[in-house]
Amino acid sequence: MKRNALLSAIGLTFSSAFLFACSASAVSTDSVNQVDADIPKNIIMVVADGMGPAYVSAYRYFKDDRSTPLVEPIIFDDMLLGTVQTYPHQQSGFVTDSAASATALAAGVKTYNGAVGVTVDKEPVETVLHRARKMGMGTGLAVTSTIVHATPASYMVANEQRRNYFEIADSFFDDRIDGRFLADVMLGAGVEHFAREDRNVIEDFQNSGFQYVDTYEQLTNVDLDKPLLGLFGSSSLPWALDDSDPYRLSTLTKAALSHLNHKNDKGFFLLVEASQVDWAGHANEIGSAMAEMHDLAVTLEVLAEFGKNNPDTLVLITADHSTGGLTVAGKDGYRWDPIWIQNAKASVPTIAAQMMKADDRAAIVSDLLGFELNAQEGQLLDAVTTEMSSRDVENVIKGIVNERTNTGWTTNGHTAVDVNIYGYGPGADKFKGNLDNIEVAHRIFELLEARD
Ligand SMILES: [Zn+2]
Repeated sequence: MKRNALLSAIGLTFSSAFLFACSASAVSTDSVNQVDADIPKNIIMVVADGMGPAYVSAYRYFKDDRSTPLVEPIIFDDMLLGTVQTYPHQQSGFVTDSAASATALAAGVKTYNGAVGVTVDKEPVETVLHRARKMGMGTGLAVTSTIVHATPASYMVANEQRRNYFEIADSFFDDRIDGRFLADVMLGAGVEHFAREDRNVIEDFQNSGFQYVDTYEQLTNVDLDKPLLGLFGSSSLPWALDDSDPYRLSTLTKAALSHLNHKNDKGFFLLVEASQVDWAGHANEIGSAMAEMHDLAVTLEVLAEFGKNNPDTLVLITADHSTGGLTVAGKDGYRWDPIWIQNAKASVPTIAAQMMKADDRAAIVSDLLGFELNAQEGQLLDAVTTEMSSRDVENVIKGIVNERTNTGWTTNGHTAVDVNIYGYGPGADKFKGNLDNIEVAHRIFELLEARD
């Protein structure tokens, strides 16, 4: 009836109305198959490792334009869906590690800390990536850690212990689903885990038709018809603050998207991990935490652009847990001053190493931190001896930054606080509210099943 009313309103003749009706029905059949409002063709899962809610708040203040009275929104703000509980299997208490939480997000089971894609009984579990593969979809990874680190490993393979990097790397090559490799594109670090004395898994991949690249520049010149392995660092990529490409996660994500969206008939599942937010949290290093968040935010812009051009794409962003017990104000009361990290030129480990080689310590540290140290801070640096461990040297510099910014940290480990979940696209409504982390996987499985 609606269509007839529309047709008479626009005054179409019978014959052209008939043609219109035919083409309209062709379009609607098509859309049932391809662009259902609630069923995504492509699913992109972004895990920001360690990104508790305080990291997002801190990033908003970090990016604030101080010349205006209100704090400007950041890309996360429009995408909030709800919160996610992160606790692992009961036998590991309430505070999860990245392996147990990634297994929960990927496979929908609670397991023990350290478990990669296995239950508490060490039985392998099927992940959403595996299910996508079984359905003939493209699959891929883009991460800033080694690609065999806890989070990507838990989506890909099964191993009873996350630190078995060599075994996990072997499984990346040896495991198959319906005769196919687990992923079409794998981008991150991990040369030391793949190119070993006992086995060169990079060569295994190359001999099986994969192209291999090891510089970001090569990513612009790959064959989209061949599967792709890209390892750009030994065990991790450099910190965003130290990397030749400070937006390396967005660079890897763009490359993975071009690959997976090329001849994309059946859709794809892509895992993106901002791995080093967590590492900055462990180190209690707020400058690197914000630089990693910025790389993630730029990556979310890339994904938003992709989503605009491919509206049949579900994008989900969440964290596996919070790290460091970050608070956006420390012991000095009512202030948090990100101005002291906004001009940082290097990570604290790099600054510490440079300082130990310099004659004028305060000068080099002032230059790399991006602000002039005062006399008292200069004395702290002069008190550093060559006998001190690099960790202790770094702690002196971090202490200066944490005091300047008045950043609070309560631990070098993880905390059990709920994390945020963000997202958009078909099916995103299923992730609203407060979810247990295993529910994230269960709902992705439901969306995959609904495609059949
Ligand atoms: Zn961690």
